[in-house]
Amino acid sequence: MASSSRSRKPEPAFDASRLVNAAIAKLRAYDPGHDLPTLRSRFGAAIAELGSNENPLGPSPRALKAMRAALAETFRYPDPRGMPLKRALAGHLGVDAACIALGNGSHELLMLLAQCFADAKHSIIFSQFGFAVFPIATAASGARAIRVPALPRSHRSAPYGHDLDAMARAVRANTRIVYLANPNNPTGTWFDDSALSAFLNKVPRNVLVVVDEAYHEYVDASGLTTALTFAGKHPNLIVTRTFSKAYGLAGVRVGYLVAQPSVVAMLERLRESFNVNNMALAGAAAALDDKPWLAKARAFNRAEREWLREELLERGYRCLPSQTNFLLCMLPRDADRLERHLFERGVIVRPMGGYGLPRALRISVGSRAENRRLLRALP
Ligand SMILES: *Cc1c(COP(=O)(O)O)cnc(C)c1O
Repeated sequence: MASSSRSRKPEPAFDASRLVNAAIAKLRAYDPGHDLPTLRSRFGAAIAELGSNENPLGPSPRALKAMRAALAETFRYPDPRGMPLKRALAGHLGVDAACIALGNGSHELLMLLAQCFADAKHSIIFSQFGFAVFPIATAASGARAIRVPALPRSHRSAPYGHDLDAMARAVRANTRIVYLANPNNPTGTWFDDSALSAFLNKVPRNVLVVVDEAYHEYVDASGLTTALTFAGKHPNLIVTRTFSKAYGLAGVRVGYLVAQPSVVAMLERLRESFNVNNMALAGAAAALDDKPWLAKARAFNRAEREWLREELLERGYRCLPSQTNFLLCMLPRDADRLERHLFERGVIVRPMGGYGLPRALRISVGSRAENRRLLRALP
């Protein structure tokens, strides 16, 4: 070794966190909770995966068939425009295909919206206990987060739900986006069409109102249809949906949004050219076409969710009302011990400490066998 290198001061250890941009410096990596692949090999079929709101019935057989056919094409890049899926969605929703953007899950689209439309000069509004991606998208864009306190626990129809009046009042001159989830994850709460209409009438047009409808297909509450009802009157409205929940396609990653064509055009500037893969494009279009399968998934979920709610209540576990495929269970004490207890018995549920709800557990509606396993595992 050359003698000059010995006389030099030792360099500090390389640390990329000192090089990262200011917005990313404030973020933390996604915490997936448990290591599911390891657990699957440990528990085998005896595991009950009730932590991620997946559809226990899986995807439509038609979607599976279409994805198998698409496998043969995976040496090709996927269709960068995704027109067949966009056309199918356009027909399904009664909108123009130019109003649709496709994403590698709706998570990607929620992130892209903040990146495209907000920066450090702006603010973004979301609710306390709102979907976890909203604060992440906000921080990544560099915008200031305005987190509006949720409705109180004692609220009659939406305990811990979005306080739309307070959210409308929170809008500032520099506000670019309001994120709403309807129904919301993790609370399961929802607001009806008239509440959304009143909210949209209060918010100026230069504020994008993003309504995340990830659980739309499960909804059957009276007075709640879809935010798309108001798209004609409010050009600043954006609706996101996903194939990850009721359609049972979480593993292939595909979601979409509906917005004004000029909004879609801005997203197209930033979107990765091949963000939705071959199998996802084919599987989603086929899933959309299989209406009986979706009807079956909806009916199963509704009956099973309410059965599970009753069984939990009989055992002293009270859950909030839900229009989704999960229940938020409220305990009289911190949920950590119960979560651990269930985990040791192969039952995976989601603790809510990270959301600021340490006494809550989010439990997805599983298959009847999984739900029974959960009930048997309770102390
Ligand atoms: C699960 C979920 C999503 C869907 O995410 P994908 O990226 O489409 O899988 C979006 N919003 C909410 C509120 C969710 O719970």
